[in-house]
Amino acid sequence: ESVVNRIAAGEIVQAPVNCVKELVENCIDAKAKHIQIILKMGGLKSIQILDNGCGILKENLPILCERFTTSKLKNYEDLQQIGTYGFRGEALSSISMISRLTLQTKTRDEILAYKVKYDNGNMIGNPMPCAGNQGTSITIEDLFYNVPIRQKTLKSSFDEFAKIFDCIAKYAVHNYKISFTLKKHGENNSIKTQISESPIDIVRVIYGNEVANSLLKVQAGDENLKFKMEGCISNANYSGKKGQFLLFINHRLVESKNLKKAIFDDLYRTVLPNTVQPFIYMSIEIDPRNVDVNVSPTKHEVSFLNEDLIVENIKKEVEAVLLKTNE
Ligand code: ADP
Ligand code: MG
Repeated sequence: ESVVNRIAAGEIVQAPVNCVKELVENCIDAKAKHIQIILKMGGLKSIQILDNGCGILKENLPILCERFTTSKLKNYEDLQQIGTYGFRGEALSSISMISRLTLQTKTRDEILAYKVKYDNGNMIGNPMPCAGNQGTSITIEDLFYNVPIRQKTLKSSFDEFAKIFDCIAKYAVHNYKISFTLKKHGENNSIKTQISESPIDIVRVIYGNEVANSLLKVQAGDENLKFKMEGCISNANYSGKKGQFLLFINHRLVESKNLKKAIFDDLYRTVLPNTVQPFIYMSIEIDPRNVDVNVSPTKHEVSFLNEDLIVENIKKEVEAVLLKTNE
């Protein structure tokens, strides 16, 4: 059984970046204001994530890495949102099956922090009391040590680091009220953001002035289609050397082929033919019951109800903003 579970876990977690994404989302769910990520060998040797969120109660530690134990599904309504938010309670259990997982955590009301180790979803020994601040620190070592096939499909630690950098950059922009740091162990910060007023502040820090100065705000929304969109898009002044499409749906980093093609590719080519590639950040909120993310566990490609109408609606607003400033 444990072999089957391990193979399944190796499908859910295909690269260090998949771990980092899940762990960062847990920190955000825990209402952390600061999240720090430290990597060895692009996460292949170790991933450490520290947050100052709510922490985990001592009594929940024994079952934390069992499958489908999640504190986030309390009633039937929540169940309908499983697909949307990925609250499946599977991340920690999957990761603990294919790595050595250590965790230290402290809630506000407990006096001491507790340190625990997990193997194959099971807690090893008892939680060890120790000194520590409120929040949680999770260390993942030797990812895929027991999944030989995965080791063969992995890229270099350089490539794995690049994927994680890209992921954290996007989360930092969207979660501009949380400060993020990302670094390689023993080196300077690769990303360091402060709690900010707007996503554009974070774009400036991570992607640079040229992009940030070119950004225009854009909004869309429709009551009948049950969606809202807020974001920013680069104008004609941006050369497009570092084109990016940052898409969050219901606060999850996702991909949408249709939306990307309609706006990132087609619209910019028509309205601003001299732009090589635009920079686009969009945060869309859609009724969770209308979103489907089950296409692939790692690619996060989404589809949603009334997709063509919503894409068309967003495209119209983006076009209006681009044409207005292009006059
Ligand atoms: P899910 O996020 O889908 O609930 P996970 O396997 O990712 O499942 O996490 C399991 C549970 O562990 C969470 O529901 C949460 O209660 C707890 N947890 C994980 N990471 C943190 C964290 N950084 N801070 C506080 N609680 C956490
Ligand atoms: Mg989670």
